[in-house]
Amino acid sequence: MFCSLASGSSGNSYYVGNGDEGLLIDAGISSRRIVKALAENGISMSQIKAVLITHDHSDHIKGLTTLANKYKLPVLATPDCLKGISQHPLTAELDKSLMQTIKAQLSFRLSGLEVTPFSVPHDGMGNVGYHVRNSHASLTLATDLGVLTDEAIHYLKAATAIVLESNYDEELLQKGSYPPYLKQRIRSHQGHLSNADAAAFLQQHFHSGIQQIFLCHLSQHNNHPELARQSAIDALNGCTPDAGKLVTVLPRGQRSPLFHL
Ligand SMILES: [Zn+2]
Ligand SMILES: [Zn+2]
Repeated sequence: MFCSLASGSSGNSYYVGNGDEGLLIDAGISSRRIVKALAENGISMSQIKAVLITHDHSDHIKGLTTLANKYKLPVLATPDCLKGISQHPLTAELDKSLMQTIKAQLSFRLSGLEVTPFSVPHDGMGNVGYHVRNSHASLTLATDLGVLTDEAIHYLKAATAIVLESNYDEELLQKGSYPPYLKQRIRSHQGHLSNADAAAFLQQHFHSGIQQIFLCHLSQHNNHPELARQSAIDALNGCTPDAGKLVTVLPRGQRSPLFHL
């Protein structure tokens, strides 16, 4: 099971579950919103066993302190990410005893799921994506990365469902009002994936084992859901007759429904 509670440059949080229990990836919206969005999808906090963090940017950790402290949730992140979290004003009050270290390429088991973090290039601390699997399905989340490395491509290709960043449309970014340094940061190898980057991955690497494609982390100012969706569908059109059915753009400011993987 998978759902997005929020996805985009204003806040990110995702749920991945295995029947009765599961975990969150990131807590970048308020704890109250996370609890409410989960409840609307029929998931209670007692079913959540941990929060995995991708990196220490505020749109991924904004609600973490309140959520983790209140529900005594283990917070799993790489050593550098935990260091970043400890120094971040939004997470300075996070209970240190909840922090647990994980390492890229080192799989662990949680709630009947096997989780493998993998490194991604981005300008946060200790950035990772996650590959999560059980016996019949798997999901790879690759968000906040400037470029798709061989490592990220490997885990995306290995999954039955992918959650792939599609942050910006190059033309909207180019014409938009962001200052040049910010445009440069977004485009850089430590920045974000564009619609064209996501499309290029799909065109080159899509195979019939990939059954669901979720586009995530859309920019509010430099993208539009329909542009991201169409770009992915155009890329898939030569590869599969089902392109339209495969692609879901995750909404920015609200939860998605719960998807069966
Ligand atoms: Zn982000
Ligand atoms: Zn980021």
